[in-house]
Parts: sequence; structure tokens; C-alpha cells
Amino acid sequence: MSALPVTHTRSTCPYCGVGCGVVIEAQGGRITGVQGDPLHPANFGKLCTKGSTLHLTATAEVTRQARLLQPMQRLERGAAPVPVSWDAALDTASSEIARIVTDHGPDAVGFYLSGQLLTEDYYAFNKLAKGLLGTNNLDTNSRLCMSSAVAGYKATLGADAPPACYEDIERAHCVFIVGSNMAWAHPILFRRLEAAKAANPAMKIIVADPRRTDTASLADLFLPIAPGSDVLLFHGMLHLMLWEGWIDSDYIAAHTTGFEALKNLVRSATPERVAQECGVRVDDVLQATRWFAQSPASLSLYCQGLNQSSSGTAKNAALINLHLATGQIGKPGAGPLSLTGQPNAMGGREVGGMANLLSGHRDLANATHRAEVAALWGIPEVPAAPGKTAIEMFEAAADGQIKALWIACTNPAQSMPDQRMVQRALERAELVVVQEAFTTTETARHAHLLLPASSWGEKIGTVTNSERRISRVRAAVPAPGMARHDWQIAVELAHRLEARLRPGQRTLFPYAGPQALWEEHRSSTAGRDLDITGLSWERLEQGPQQWPMPEGASQGQARLYENGIFPTPDGKARFHSASYQPLAEPVDARYPFGLTTGRLRDQWHGMSRTGTLGRLFSHTAEPRLHMHPQDMQRRGFAEGELVQIASRRGTLMVPVQADTQLAPTRLFMAMHWGSEFLGGRAENGERLLGINALTQPAFCPTSKQPELKHTAVKVSKVELP
Ligand code: SF4
Repeated sequence: MSALPVTHTRSTCPYCGVGCGVVIEAQGGRITGVQGDPLHPANFGKLCTKGSTLHLTATAEVTRQARLLQPMQRLERGAAPVPVSWDAALDTASSEIARIVTDHGPDAVGFYLSGQLLTEDYYAFNKLAKGLLGTNNLDTNSRLCMSSAVAGYKATLGADAPPACYEDIERAHCVFIVGSNMAWAHPILFRRLEAAKAANPAMKIIVADPRRTDTASLADLFLPIAPGSDVLLFHGMLHLMLWEGWIDSDYIAAHTTGFEALKNLVRSATPERVAQECGVRVDDVLQATRWFAQSPASLSLYCQGLNQSSSGTAKNAALINLHLATGQIGKPGAGPLSLTGQPNAMGGREVGGMANLLSGHRDLANATHRAEVAALWGIPEVPAAPGKTAIEMFEAAADGQIKALWIACTNPAQSMPDQRMVQRALERAELVVVQEAFTTTETARHAHLLLPASSWGEKIGTVTNSERRISRVRAAVPAPGMARHDWQIAVELAHRLEARLRPGQRTLFPYAGPQALWEEHRSSTAGRDLDITGLSWERLEQGPQQWPMPEGASQGQARLYENGIFPTPDGKARFHSASYQPLAEPVDARYPFGLTTGRLRDQWHGMSRTGTLGRLFSHTAEPRLHMHPQDMQRRGFAEGELVQIASRRGTLMVPVQADTQLAPTRLFMAMHWGSEFLGGRAENGERLLGINALTQPAFCPTSKQPELKHTAVKVSKVELP
């Protein structure tokens, strides 16, 4: 008997927003290996620890133990779920949603999606909520990740479009990394930066972060800024640029508006004030400013340190202000480049998969945009009422306003701030549907219906990475058990809802597969900043492309605004004048420590995939609270001793670890650890599920992104009986 043939399928890594290309090896319907795709321009064949072990998270054993393989229904709250057929599950879901819509209106339903869904999945759900049901209550965990970057780009440059690209890392003379531990969170890009620095030792790298992370090890200059003080630092840098005459007056005059107001605003950001409030040396700020302004090309790379903040939009915009003031944009090696946390946060934004967006980077608040999308979808209108963003959606469910929650490919019971509030929401909702590949998520415990979804190596569609590059996702093997594709579940639900809510009418969901969804999305981008009308599915089969790529273009555009024209009404970029705001929850005598959260090198989100693989625990084996040794000594904590952390919202117990990367009074804990590692209970007996038992729901008023990077806490010894 001949051996079964080995197949090789080009696809994309499902973890971070670098969007590395992979080649999946499979045999006999099982994934047997993975390599980096040497032809993919994000990674040229390289993979990090997470990417290179993907195949080990798709073994038969992991599938058997961790995958959801058939629809399940919980007949009453707290009961064990029982298997049901797909027809029964979808009939129940659609009849319950139709009942809730009839009794309470469409805004009693909310959809909470994920930056790990494919663009086509997002498109189908967005049309289902906003086009069919008539509610804009559709948001995504990208709200916790990138919404401040979106708002920052739109406020300054006029569109949610990162202007630079990965190749600019090799072409930059100065790289300013702010609020990003890219050595761990975006490892392949960090390796590109290491290689670029080795090739050009004159390159200057500045890292600004409250923690001296592994990323800072590559820095020529490290600025250990106080948490939340980024806007003041950027204003201080602009103050110095003005003082030293380092601004590009010609660029400002020709291509921007609003500089006078900003000049007045930054007058108070004196070097002395910046030194005192940001906690950095005047000479260091001057050096950073000189390198940024005077280098031939300066690139900024930034992530959650700017985004996950109650002033996230102001932080993003204040950094972009520096690029506009110095003309460090629209040329090779220069520009702001936000790093997306998730593999398809960008694609979700493209199709309008957030509460305030519509297809093709349109805005819900814009009546013309709503009319354009209604025409595209063949419906009378898209509702104008603003949808609820992530935290608002769960707060509304906790208050009883939202009665049905549909959650796809994400784990809000662990990842959202203020977990008690999220638990109340999941317990109070009349219908919770969780569409998931894995059985192990905390959110799945609350589901009335559990719907098995396909996962990496099984899915078909597209994703867009941090540099606007659209890549194909291809299936190497069929989905296991009864799992279905996410877009397929959305479309089958839509068909059932159409039968109940608009019987006898032509379906709005005539999709035979992801390509049909892609084609409709593509047509929606005509004339928009992300126009991809020139990028056919067939062209995409030949290799990834960056947007925009309008009709007639032979390839996508590497960097934007090279002609100095911005997608604003007057074609000019806008300086953004927002004053520096302090943290939403400053430390005080009762809660004297500032806790920040972040990623580990080898884990991903709630660990439903990476947690299946023992090898990925060799870098960090268990949860630890990181604390400066002086603070430990002052409180009499020994290394590894169990301590209690408490915020105004909850309590956790975890071993403490000395960490000189932190300044005194600052703490760090990784965001990944869930209940199986941390399972504590609050004083009232509620189950606590991880670090977000402590974090706060305060969010940026513009982007609605929560301040996950700072919580005021106290730490005490655990008195064991
Ligand atoms: Fe995957 Fe990101 Fe690692 Fe690339 S850098 S292999 S996309 S996790």
C-alpha cells in the first residue's frame, strides 16, 4: 500500500498582526508540519516560537481534548451542555433572536467578534447585524487592541490607513518604538529590526516604555516614561523641535492645517515639566528629539502602550503630530506604523466590523456612507443609531438592555476589563451563543448554545496585516467533527432569520463561499482610501498585496501620502491639539502600585491554542506578579511567595517575582493566565478568572478603548491558616 501523499499549502499564521506566511504540511487529513513561507514579504521564511509550533497545536490529541466538535445546548443555566444537531442549534438561535427582536427591538441583540476572524467572516456578520437585523450593536475585541490607532489616524491623516510598511524598517535611520514590546509581541518584525540595525550601525533606536523590556535591549536610548505620560513626552519633543528650529516649515505650510493651535498647546510642555512628570532626563529627551527630527528618515512603531489608554486617541495623534511637524512621513523609511495585535484586526476594520464603522472604511455617523452601504446591500437603509462598543455592549447586557449576545472566536469572560461586570452580563442575557473552535474558554461556560467553528489550517479566506497587506488563508485539512466555517455559520443564521423576519423576499446572503463575500467587499471599496478593485481573487492567489490597489494597478501601494495629499476634504493632514490628561485611576495611598498588563513571548491571548502545548511553557512556566526588588524588600516579600493583589474591583493571589525591568511602585503581570492557573474567588464568592478581575473599564472617549495598561492596586502578604 502506497503512503498517503504529503501536501503543502500556503497560508498565514493566525497569531499576531505581523501576518507571516506559512506553508502547512499535511498528510491523510492531518497537519504534520509548518514552515515559514520564503516567498511571503512579511517574514521571508522565518517564524517565531509560536508560529513554528502551530502544527503541534493541531494534533489529533489536541483536537480530541480541546476542540469543540459538535453543537451543544445548555438546556438550563448551570447544566452540562448536551449535543444537538446543527439544524436544532440554528433553529433555536434564530427563533430566540427573532423573539427578542420582536419583543424588544433589534438593539436588544449584540454581536461581539474577534480580530482573529477572517475578513469574509467579519463581512457576513456585519451585514447580518446592520443590514438584516437593523442593529449597529456589533463590535469586536479589536476595540481592546487597535481602536485608538484607528481614531488617531483618522483624526490626523483623514483615514484609518497606516502610511508606512515593513520595508521601511530596513530603510529608516531612526526608529522610535513607543509602548511596544515587539521583541515578544511581534517577534519577526523585531528580528527584521535587529538585522537592519546590524546592517546599519548608525541607525538610532529609541524605546520609550514604562518597562525596560527585551525590546529596549536594542535601544541606543531608552526613555523610562511614567505610565500614561506619552502625550506630554510627545508635546515636549515638539516643544524642543520648535525651540531648536527642527521643524519642517515648508512641509507644514504645504501639507497640514492646525499647527498654530498645537504650537500654543505645547508651549507649556517645557523640558523641565516633561522631565518631572514623565520621569525622564532632559538630555535624553533632547537627544531623542534630535535623532527623530534630524535623521533622514524616522519611523515610529507603536502598539498597546499607546492604544490601551483612556487618552489613547490623543497619544496616537500626538505621535503622528511629530511626523507631520518634521515631514517624516510619505517617504521611504519614515512615518507612523501602528503594529496590530491580532492577525486580522485590520481586515475587520476594512469591512466595517465595529460599532461605529461600515463597509469600505465608511463611518456610520455619515448619512452618505449609510446610503452607499444600503444601496450596496439592497436594503432601504442602515440604521443611524450608534451601536454599542465592546464595554458598552457588555454593560448594556449587565443592565438588561441587551438580551442576546452572539460571541464569535473570542473570550470576553477573560479578556475584557472588569470581569465582574462581564460575568453579570453573561449571566443576565437571555441568550448567549458562543461560536468557538475550542471548548476550553471561560466564556463557553456561560453559553446557552456552543457552535463549533473551524480554525487555523482549516479556514479559507483573507486577512490583512499591520502594513495593509492582504494574504490568503487556505485550508490544508477539513475542519474536524461537525465544525463549520465562521462565515458559513453567519450565513446559515441569516437565512433562518430572513425566513422569520422578511419571508418571501430575495436573500441578502447569496454566498456560496468566501470568494463571493470577498468580491462584495472588494466592490464596496471602489473610490475609497482602501480601494482594492484592482485586486482580484485570482491575483491574490499569486501572492499577497497591499492596499490600495485600484482598478488598473499592477500591484498594491507600499507606502501612502508620498505626494503629500491626504484623504481629508482639503487634502491636508490635520495637527491634533489635545491636552495631556492624567491616568483615569491614579495611584493613591490606598492603592499605591500601578499595574500594567501585557503579552508573554510564547503565549497567545487566553491560551486556548498555545496552552495546549507544553513546550510553549518553557519560556514562562506559570503566572507571576513582577515587582521591583526594593518594593519586595520593603514589604518583606520573598521570591516566589504568594501575594494578594487587590484593586477597587477584585482580588487575585499569585506568586511574586523580582524584576528590575520595572521602576519601583510599578507592577507587571501577563494577560494570558486564566482560571485554571489563577482560579481565585472574590470575597463575595464570585469566580475570578485572571488579571482582568482587577482592571478598570475606563476608556478613551473617542476610541472607546479601555485603559488596560494601568490599574491602581495594593499588594499584601497572604496570611495562610
Ligand atoms: Fe506568527 Fe506573529 Fe510569530 Fe509571525 S511573528 S510567526 S505572525 S506569531
